[in-house]
Amino acid sequence: MLEEGHFYFNKAADVLDLSSKIRAILLAPNRIVKVELVTEDDQGQLMHHFGFRVQHNSARGPAKGGLRFHPSMDEEHATALANLMTWKTAVVDVPFGGAKGGINCDPYNMSEAELYEVTTAFVRGIKEVIGPTMDIPAPDVNTNAKIMGWIMDAYSSYYGFSPGVVTGKPLQLFGSPGRDEATGRGVMYVLDEVLKDQGSSIADVTVALQGFGNVGSHAARLIAERGGKIVAVGDHMGGVCRTDGLDVVKLIEWAKDHRTVAGFPDADAFESSEVVTWDADVLIPAALEDAITRDNAGDVRATCIVEGANAPTTPEADEILHKKGVTVVPDILANAGGVTVSYFEWAQNIQQFRWELDRINQELEKTMRRAYAAVRQTAREKNLDLRTAAFVLGIRRVSEAAISRRYVKEQI
Ligand code: NAD
Repeated sequence: MLEEGHFYFNKAADVLDLSSKIRAILLAPNRIVKVELVTEDDQGQLMHHFGFRVQHNSARGPAKGGLRFHPSMDEEHATALANLMTWKTAVVDVPFGGAKGGINCDPYNMSEAELYEVTTAFVRGIKEVIGPTMDIPAPDVNTNAKIMGWIMDAYSSYYGFSPGVVTGKPLQLFGSPGRDEATGRGVMYVLDEVLKDQGSSIADVTVALQGFGNVGSHAARLIAERGGKIVAVGDHMGGVCRTDGLDVVKLIEWAKDHRTVAGFPDADAFESSEVVTWDADVLIPAALEDAITRDNAGDVRATCIVEGANAPTTPEADEILHKKGVTVVPDILANAGGVTVSYFEWAQNIQQFRWELDRINQELEKTMRRAYAAVRQTAREKNLDLRTAAFVLGIRRVSEAAISRRYVKEQI
């Protein structure tokens, strides 16, 4: 996965004609932390997990990125995802660097009490290297507002009241209105932009989604509210489809109660992996990385892919899609709505001031549409696909900050 990120980085670095010295400096993570977490389960037995936090680059501000609780989490995953965060925060121009982390646990098989113990042990292990001006975690796969609230509480017990240490918190614990749906909302705005460019609109398209968690469910709801037809959804347990459009509100209720879309009664069932090649105008991968590979890219039927997930498309698949003429809106642009509202949450926390939801959504919309326009302009000027253009934009901004701070003693 790290190699894939480096591939996209180097492709854009070639366009920018970056020296090997600057490339090496920009690719090296600033800090990698690994902690062993030994806690007790509900039966009093010891559990062992590893927690990771990688701060990739802080040239443009404190490191920022999510925490993923998943058995596959390891140092390489965290490093690759932290890299992406550095370019993503630069593409939407929020004053942060990039970070990522998590724990190699499986929350589907843990009680809330066990999850709490593991989370607070993790905070004990990394508390010296996170903080409102240093590194600010947020939710990612299998983490949510409740867990962010535990992190704030645990951190504050060491350093005093510190809501700005983490974003994506519950509203009653200084979270921001609109943060929960922000990534999905951002996906909807960039989809609207790309369809406008193609002379179409959300109301004209059918959409298939892989993943129906935070990103997928909110994106689906907001797209459906604008007349888009959600024809297929697949998650880790199964898929559900309906040619005349799924009732997304009911599907969200079902998924909340059952922790999966599988079994939803008002739809037909299908094998979840088929969602990537579904007969729909738009595909939104919103689950995990490597969903679209060289094995299935040739069979993709959507003409537009909006990457809600991080790194869902391998470089080989990206090449195949490009040759097929599929428009791919890359993760570092498409799913940046979450980190954008995380910035608004952090700004509210450090100012001890609360914004109204309308203001949050307006600022998010402005940021996402502006970022899309900047990426599209770079793509047109340099005759690039949207992914390479987004990397060029992000890398250029980070390089300029690094040079101004004399981390790099060369010009670009
Ligand atoms: P989540 O835990 O809320 O949901 C994950 C979804 O993916 C679930 O529906 C799960 O069933 C599904 N899934 C897991 N494994 C799958 C598989 N093998 N096949 C099909 N579906 C599978 O996570 P999320 O926060 O929605 O994150 C989803 C993606 O979006 C991740 O790549 C994450 O890094 C990225 N992302 C999240 C945010 C955010 O604000 N939460 C922001 C930017 C990017």
